[in-house]
Amino acid sequence: MDLPFTEPFKIKMVENIYRSTKEQRVRWIKDAYFNLFNLRSEQVFIDLLTDSGTGAMSDKQWSEIMLGDESYAGASSYYKLKDAIKDITGFDFFLPTHQGRAAENVLFSVLVKEGDVVPGNSHFDTTKGHIEFRKATAVDCTIDAASDTTIWHPFKGNVDIEKLENVLKITSPGKISFIIVTVTNNTAGGQPVSMSNLREVRKLSTKYGVKLIIDSARFAENAYFIKMREEGYADKDIRDIAREMFSYADCMTMSSKKDAIVNMGGFIGFREEELFRKASTYNIIYEGFITYGGMSGRDMNALAQGLYEGTEFLYLESRIKQVSGLGTTMKKYGIPVLEPFGGHAVFIDAKKFLPQIPKEEFPAQTLALEIYTEGGVRGVEIGALMSDRDPITRQNRYPEIETVRLAIPRRVYTDNHMNYVAATVGSVLENRDRIKRGVKIGWEAPIMRHFTVRLERF
Ligand SMILES: *Cc1c(COP(=O)(O)O)cnc(C)c1O
Repeated sequence: MDLPFTEPFKIKMVENIYRSTKEQRVRWIKDAYFNLFNLRSEQVFIDLLTDSGTGAMSDKQWSEIMLGDESYAGASSYYKLKDAIKDITGFDFFLPTHQGRAAENVLFSVLVKEGDVVPGNSHFDTTKGHIEFRKATAVDCTIDAASDTTIWHPFKGNVDIEKLENVLKITSPGKISFIIVTVTNNTAGGQPVSMSNLREVRKLSTKYGVKLIIDSARFAENAYFIKMREEGYADKDIRDIAREMFSYADCMTMSSKKDAIVNMGGFIGFREEELFRKASTYNIIYEGFITYGGMSGRDMNALAQGLYEGTEFLYLESRIKQVSGLGTTMKKYGIPVLEPFGGHAVFIDAKKFLPQIPKEEFPAQTLALEIYTEGGVRGVEIGALMSDRDPITRQNRYPEIETVRLAIPRRVYTDNHMNYVAATVGSVLENRDRIKRGVKIGWEAPIMRHFTVRLERF
């Protein structure tokens, strides 16, 4: 008999969570203006809002916290992190930053100029924000299969090489800041990018003389998918795969709050010293001196350790199978979920789940609210609220796919919790005919409205 996979860790410390009643939640969500971001965490039983910075550190990471060197310059913690980054990614130069978007801010301050074009696979919100803030344009060159929820594709996060080459051909030289590839492709649902795709992108970047940057938040999950799905990688170690991925890039930006399993932190990796030097100036202005840049010594220590733990095969297997296990259980209940399941989250198709709710009444937000009141499970709307209004016409943008994302924190919840989540959503599905109306906007901020929006129920 094949023995089942299990978590390669046991639990040494627990944090109690409060299981509220439905009556309490009905009151709380009303007081929160039907915005899940307004809830206090104690009002949530199982929190699947994000997998960012919500992971559980190990005993070794906590031990590293005690060993942190808080010297302003040249701390041993800086060198420990430098060695770990060199070992895992191959990059010789790096700058610590307080989180991923800070890495983008520092690097893009050097590389992105007004009027530039930045092609890539679906750019993450903050990446796009930092590009557009500099009056440059992000061009999405993701393969078409990514927007078809019914197609099974092993690497749905891939860059469409033809689309990319077209952008490179029609844009005058010097107007491309760089090509950016996000692994895994978060915006497309945590979908991986294949090694052969990275290789093809590298060929184009060399041919057209532009830099290639990897937005690396979930690089280890991406390496796991390459090992499991791409020919020639089954016997390779996750870290060898990661190093090969990075070997095609000139730079990397990292949100360590994801695959490095720390609660805060980020960095930039560089191959060339000259670019590192230029970026150092911005790091000093925005983040801190180059040997701590926004991080405490103790946090750099925990991050160095986290980079190793996050690239262990058995850990990655248990994590990614926990996510797909949740998706599979939900599917058995008849819940419409997007497939293939991503590395960090399960996405529910809200339009299929609540066909009676018109898009103007925000079906994905309505579903997220119902899931919360039913079982105290917090997910997030990825739909029209988050898409916001067109910057010119100020009309609502209605994306083709409306989803509720259930993102799974790393090493935090057990499979029992996952079963509870699936049953909660299943129970909403059973009674979905009762849901007659959605929500309308009471107040909204000029941009990034979903964080603070106040909603009313019909
Ligand atoms: C989270 C994330 C970022 C931004 O990182 P923060 O640490 O949240 O600032 C950038 N890119 C991707 C792909 C991410 O998932």
